[in-house]
Amino acid sequence: MRKFVYQFDEGRKEMKFLLGGKGANLAEMTRIGLPVPPGFILSTDACKDYNEHHGHLSEDILREVMLHLAHLEEVTGKQFGSAENPLLVSVRSGAPLSMPGMMDTILNLGLNEKSIQGLMHATGDARSSLDSYRRFIQMFGDVVFGIPSYHFEQALTRIKKEAGYQSDTDLQPADLEELISRYLDIFSAEAGRDFPQDPKEQLLLAITAVFDSWMNPRAVIYRRLHDIDASYGTAVNIQAMVFGNTGDTSGTGIAFTRNPSTGEKAVFGEFLLNAQGEDVVAGIRTPVELSQLQKLMPQIFEELIATCALLEEHYLDMQDIEFTIEKERLYILQTRNGKRTTKAAIQVAVDLVHEGKISREEAIMRIAPKELDQLLHPAFHPDALAKSRVLATGLPASPGAATGAIYFDAASAVRAADMGIKVILVRSETSPEDIEGMAKSEAILTARGGMTSHAAVVARGMGKCCIVGCADILIDEQEKVLRTKAGQILHEGDLISLDGGTGQIYEEALPLTEAELSPAFDEWMQWVDESKRLQIRVNADTPADLQMALHFGAEGIGLCRTEHMFFHEDRIPFVRQMIIAENSQDRACALEKLKDMQKEDFCALFRIAAGRPINIRLLDPPLHEFLPKETREIEKLAQASGKTVAEIRRRLSELTETNPMLGHRGCRLAVTFPEIYKMQAEAIMESAMIIHDEGIPVHPEIMIPLVATQAELALIKNEIKATIQQMFDKERLILPFDIGTMIETPRACIVADQIAKDAQFFSFGTNDLTQLTFGFSRDDAGKFLPSYEKLALLPQDPFVSIDQDGVGALVELGTVRGRMTQPNIKIGVCGEHGGDPKSIRFFHKIGLQYVSCSPFRVPIARLAAAQAALLEQHSMETV
Ligand code: PEP
Ligand code: MG
Repeated sequence: MRKFVYQFDEGRKEMKFLLGGKGANLAEMTRIGLPVPPGFILSTDACKDYNEHHGHLSEDILREVMLHLAHLEEVTGKQFGSAENPLLVSVRSGAPLSMPGMMDTILNLGLNEKSIQGLMHATGDARSSLDSYRRFIQMFGDVVFGIPSYHFEQALTRIKKEAGYQSDTDLQPADLEELISRYLDIFSAEAGRDFPQDPKEQLLLAITAVFDSWMNPRAVIYRRLHDIDASYGTAVNIQAMVFGNTGDTSGTGIAFTRNPSTGEKAVFGEFLLNAQGEDVVAGIRTPVELSQLQKLMPQIFEELIATCALLEEHYLDMQDIEFTIEKERLYILQTRNGKRTTKAAIQVAVDLVHEGKISREEAIMRIAPKELDQLLHPAFHPDALAKSRVLATGLPASPGAATGAIYFDAASAVRAADMGIKVILVRSETSPEDIEGMAKSEAILTARGGMTSHAAVVARGMGKCCIVGCADILIDEQEKVLRTKAGQILHEGDLISLDGGTGQIYEEALPLTEAELSPAFDEWMQWVDESKRLQIRVNADTPADLQMALHFGAEGIGLCRTEHMFFHEDRIPFVRQMIIAENSQDRACALEKLKDMQKEDFCALFRIAAGRPINIRLLDPPLHEFLPKETREIEKLAQASGKTVAEIRRRLSELTETNPMLGHRGCRLAVTFPEIYKMQAEAIMESAMIIHDEGIPVHPEIMIPLVATQAELALIKNEIKATIQQMFDKERLILPFDIGTMIETPRACIVADQIAKDAQFFSFGTNDLTQLTFGFSRDDAGKFLPSYEKLALLPQDPFVSIDQDGVGALVELGTVRGRMTQPNIKIGVCGEHGGDPKSIRFFHKIGLQYVSCSPFRVPIARLAAAQAALLEQHSMETV
């Protein structure tokens, strides 16, 4: 016969797939002799049986529950529904893997018109007992019958108003009795039945509600996002309540075995005398530090400290422990691995390695790569965040937190920033002209654009907080107003806050906590590097970015976008002159100026890289990003190029493309204007020669973008090679260099065996590859992808995390085919996916040599690469 229900003393911590995480821990604590209030667990098998019986508890389950309930009454000496000595229980869900927010806890189940008398008698406190009852009705109504809490909240507000009270604590027993009667009426009206007075019925209804919650839409989506198998099911924990509100020798609290903010090894926690756990949660009373307990009940304090040490030793991790003291007896209600800041997580992991409790590998696996964002960027103060109001939500393009005054154009942003104002640049979308404004702003917000749009890529490169594609706002750049869909209007200079990690925008300036790196972090990162196989490079276009990335542990540049080197006010005019040139003479003139600028940049990068690999991508400007739109800019360009405004406008209209992202960019530009890449090849090798003369090793990788056929690559490669050969002949010097290509069109992946005949390396441009494989515009995806995610049509934004089945399969195909021609060809990824942990795991698995990402993502990529390697070696559990 199948067994569905387990006594706490029948389980252990390894049984979390049968008993759920919470139940397994309660069982383990019982097994090792800790004072855990007794109880029992309906296993995940019971959940499966419930689902197999189409939402009915089978006779077998019912019989087992009743047997265990009787046993619980026996061991506690209390009875369900008794007016003298009532047994009350808590009912909590418990999935095998943590699923926060899936279902709330129900406390004090068993309360009814009769047992409330018993509770008042036990606690000797009518007020707090009646308060527990009214909260139980609300909680039960909400969790089991889906009655929205506001119905109860309104009744509470009304009764306080009638009595002229300010706070909940002013309510007297008679008021609470009246409130309970109103709550029961609300319950009947909303649930269509009376509040169940029979505690057994309450219990069975609560159990079915927990089982049902396993299939609610929120839980289904959560599981899909976190790759949790839907077949696991949830357990239900039923535990006798103990009462911390039975006078001044009782109380309740939580204890962390180490400080969850800093990781410091010292027990840390809070405690409330004569209270139930709910009082703390409800914020009715403010808890005091644990040290108070030491003064009030020194023996209990000692027992608690010893329990903390024992639990930490047992679980080999920092524990978050809930305890209650009932009449000078300590009870442990829950233990779990404590939530902590990233700083604390690293400190605890490093300390546990030094204490000989866990291995370095375990310490590496314990921190999720994305958590490192918290260390590398400022964040909002959690208390302030909890109280703030969200104005709108967009796509979280670049992490970090920032507050500042809004400005609607780059020039005003720069002016304000120069006056010492903290600025947030708000644009419909950004363009290269905005670069200085972006650099001087604390953060960037755009109404349009996706996760690989100009604003997103550039802000990420700068390590700056950025939210894009915020469909909740409308921006009028002329009038300088921001309107939200909810009707708020903000003007230039108004303060807002942005959280680039969540995409949320707040309507005030929130206080920030600064980013800081500790010695423990450095030590831990060293272990990380020793474990990884993938090389981590950086996408960097400026000396400052490269310097920052090297500080974060980058091993070279995987992508230097040369067109980004012209994102500067004094440089853009020359790029524009080059683009609009109508004959080779005009073009040559603009190119000559650009060459000098490029040489300066390349020399600086080569110097800083000091022999590390540098991959330079030849020009790939999507024309719409570079051409002037505003009259002022058009006039400037006319003046600089000695043409009339009308001539410029005519040329611009000739150059206008219907689909610029599919247009005249990348290597196609070199097919029509070979002199552009010729200039760049000269600039690269002339710089390399200068650096070589300085005694610094240099070995550039020259990369040709957007290739689709071997023939176009061969044509361009041969032209570049001929140019370089001429230089070598002239200077009587030969320097090492490689010529390779980006693989960013689906065709290039399919014919990678042919392309590899003319490439010394491949770098997958997964941004364009995603755009071209899905046919989703990189710039417009923000308009529709959120709906796809909401409807679960896609597990994630494919511009953020590689679509392994489609785009990923093409990357794998390209890799395999490229290696068929050249088994040792160097292969990496330089699209934004190179900084995404899940994608990095995939790139590791298919055997690439490196990933490249923006500077602030380098530590995240290092960790993800190390975890991928460890998972492969030990099939360790993911964090
Ligand atoms: C890519 O397409 O993945 C890439 C890195 O190039 P860009 O984003 O500059 O088009
Ligand atoms: Mg590209």
